[in-house]
Amino acid sequence: MKINRFRDLIPSAASRRGFLSSLLGGSAAAMTWLTAGGLFRSSANASPAAGFAPLPDVPDSEIIRQQRELQSALARPLNTRRWAMVIDPRKCTGCNTCTISCRAENVTGPEGSYRRVAQGPAGRYPAVTNIFMPSNCAQCDDPPCQRAVPNGMILKRPDGIVEFDYTKLTGDYARKAADACPYRAVHVDEGKFFTTGTPAEQAYEKRDFVEYQREWNRADGTLPDSVARKCHFCLHRVEAGMLPACVANCMCTAMAFGDLNDSGSFVNKLLRENRTIRIHEELGIEPRVHYIEEKIEHVTQYSCATCH
Ligand code: SF4
Ligand code: SF4
Ligand code: SF4
Repeated sequence: MKINRFRDLIPSAASRRGFLSSLLGGSAAAMTWLTAGGLFRSSANASPAAGFAPLPDVPDSEIIRQQRELQSALARPLNTRRWAMVIDPRKCTGCNTCTISCRAENVTGPEGSYRRVAQGPAGRYPAVTNIFMPSNCAQCDDPPCQRAVPNGMILKRPDGIVEFDYTKLTGDYARKAADACPYRAVHVDEGKFFTTGTPAEQAYEKRDFVEYQREWNRADGTLPDSVARKCHFCLHRVEAGMLPACVANCMCTAMAFGDLNDSGSFVNKLLRENRTIRIHEELGIEPRVHYIEEKIEHVTQYSCATCH
């Protein structure tokens, strides 16, 4: 049954590329995509979107700005939104709040998480640091996971979010989708619980949750066994006018989310003002997650080769 429950409830280019891409296990080409001249004017100063409670007036808040832009984008037709994420590894402290908030939001089990925060050393002694690299499904425009399974199991929505059909993408198909993902962003949920074997299995592992605008439960059989799962940009929250859980809960504002078709959006601002890459762009799959790759202060040299 389709529902809208949440809404109802509320230096050298090569070394730079190598450094970031190696943290995710592969090489990457420099980003050549330019954001200037998007389809729509900026919504940064737009009035509150219809149907949403007014947001607080906090002029310097990047989060409020992004949420306001998101709500304005929702007023436009679905196929005119182009959701994307921009991650700034320089701001990330590796706290994993995003991972925990994602787990809580989407009720994932011990077999996997939608979100990982890789880490590795950067620089040369004594100017060294540790770099953290959050990652999740990149919502590829030409998704390898989709090509690995029969038609209809994985859908590319008009707004760019890659949707898994939980009623079909199970068993061997789930494993094929997971194997095909170059980001290792997919896991197969076997229905286990973290608290099995403890004095009591906890209710928070067995509660209902909403994904792809439907209600699921890992305990009552609603969610099929051996189903493929991954990040969906928190579609249920986005459609309800809220930012993805990981973005909203990151205390370091290391992530941004928004509409690439809004030329004045915060994500487009970040892409215009910073050198960025997309991991595995060389595969031609057009990932929707961008990484800022500007220099790290006081660290004169860094390379993935130091840890890979
Ligand atoms: S919550 Fe933010 S700072 Fe913490 S690991 Fe995630 S992206 Fe990094
Ligand atoms: S990142 Fe992986 S799971 Fe996500 S759309 Fe691309 S290939 Fe599919
Ligand atoms: S966007 Fe949502 S589903 Fe994706 S990693 Fe963030 S919290 Fe998890």
